[in-house]
Amino acid sequence: MPPATLRNHLLDRLSADDRKAILAATTSFEFELGHVFSEAGDAVGHVHFVLSGIISAVAGMQDGRTVETFMVGREGVTAPGAVNVPVRTYSRLVGQSAGQSLRIEIARLRALCDERPDLRMVVALYAAGLQGELEQSGACNALHRSDQRFSKWLLRCHDRLDGDTLHLTQEYLASLLGSQRTTVNEAAQGLQKAGAITYSRGRVTIVDRAALERAACECYRHGQRSSLDIPQPQ
Ligand SMILES: [Zn+2]
Repeated sequence: MPPATLRNHLLDRLSADDRKAILAATTSFEFELGHVFSEAGDAVGHVHFVLSGIISAVAGMQDGRTVETFMVGREGVTAPGAVNVPVRTYSRLVGQSAGQSLRIEIARLRALCDERPDLRMVVALYAAGLQGELEQSGACNALHRSDQRFSKWLLRCHDRLDGDTLHLTQEYLASLLGSQRTTVNEAAQGLQKAGAITYSRGRVTIVDRAALERAACECYRHGQRSSLDIPQPQ
């Protein structure tokens, strides 16, 4: 069995036999920060079960502004909806933090899901959790302050990465959070003052996670429930 840092929580929920079957159908894939997996509107040809790092779905507007709509780490798989029906991606999928995944052709995954109902079930449960998280995000973006959302976002990254330091420039952070650079800077300075993080050019280090949790809105807990705590299939 691969080390805990290189495991996918969905595949971990499968029986040994199901896991063996899917592992045999996947290839190992390494991605860098900024790697573009697919553009918005592309047909889903492959999906990735993430083992380490983070893949972000980034929506782009006509005026060029961008915002991350959700992230996928070792708790999930990209484009889970494509398991049941042919779909196109709604957002650009990009490596937000370098890592590894297990890549599988979507036709192959569909065939495996037809033979192995528990595999279909774990992907469907993940998709349902993600839908819940997106609904909460809609409310969060409308109702919660940018510093609360920034704290939530840092916690969500921290959950998916090894270590306490994130390598992100202010520009990149602003483009992910749909905020102005100055807004990100103010939020980061506030968290630094509260002792939750240290922040210097392109580097955020989480030094007091409990303080960061206090600074985040309730949506962080909601997201944890929906996407990281998937029940076992019955
Ligand atoms: Zn919120």
